[in-house]
Amino acid sequence: MPRTLAVANQKGGVAKTTTVATLGAALTELGQRVLVVDLDPQACLTFSVGIDPEDLDKSIHHVLLDKVSAPDVLVEFDDAPDLIPATIELATAEVRLAQDRAPEQVLRTALRPLLASYDWIIVDCPPTLGLLTVNGLTAASDVLIPLQCETLAHRGVGQLLDTIHDVQVLANPNLQVLGVLPTLYDGRTTHARAVLETIADTYSLEVLEPAIPKSIRFAEAPAIGETVLSTAPTSPGAKAYRALASALL
Ligand code: ADP
Ligand code: MG
Repeated sequence: MPRTLAVANQKGGVAKTTTVATLGAALTELGQRVLVVDLDPQACLTFSVGIDPEDLDKSIHHVLLDKVSAPDVLVEFDDAPDLIPATIELATAEVRLAQDRAPEQVLRTALRPLLASYDWIIVDCPPTLGLLTVNGLTAASDVLIPLQCETLAHRGVGQLLDTIHDVQVLANPNLQVLGVLPTLYDGRTTHARAVLETIADTYSLEVLEPAIPKSIRFAEAPAIGETVLSTAPTSPGAKAYRALASALL
């Protein structure tokens, strides 16, 4: 059985998608078989690995709603994680999913045919706490919470943990909170460190190490379908994601 990691935080811009793409690439470098799943209608993960959603006739939307099998929409890569892509159509999925008999279980069931082929499945959740994120959490063994350490970053953490707790009680008792991953981190400021300590103490959350430093390098890579591991292999950001991947193994 693969480890299935949901990367979730209903706040946008906290590096969920960047973490899925870069951590996935780092685990691939370590010889792991990795699948990344785009569960966000913005399809940023799909774009960032170099796939134009406009070119796809089938995507996660069809898997969740039209009984298309997950292997049928899989995009395979040689030296990068395989992808289950999303398109903007996914924006209409929550309303239709809600009519399913077990709406929170649909992704978990859909991934079953792929479990034997991967060591890691990493799910990029959308910036909401709706049914798509609940599907990501229900399919997962672990949840990782990227957190930007600035004032007000804690707003919403309580709600996210409540949602995780509901999923643990109602649908997925095995779900573990791996911890918060400090992202866009400027460790030179005592402010960032103080925010992080407050959040970790308040919610009794594990803080994953190392923190991912803030760097302009992260903005460049997805535009050409790559990650910082290849565009800036010796940068502190690339080193941090590699260290995180090693720590997870
Ligand atoms: P989310 O998926 O949570 O909305 P993204 O991964 O799309 O967040 O990241 C939001 C923006 O921040 C993107 O432009 C991305 O390139 C940038 N970014 C991500 N990680 C870093 C980082 N460590 N340093 C600087 N910019 C980053
Ligand atoms: Mg995103």
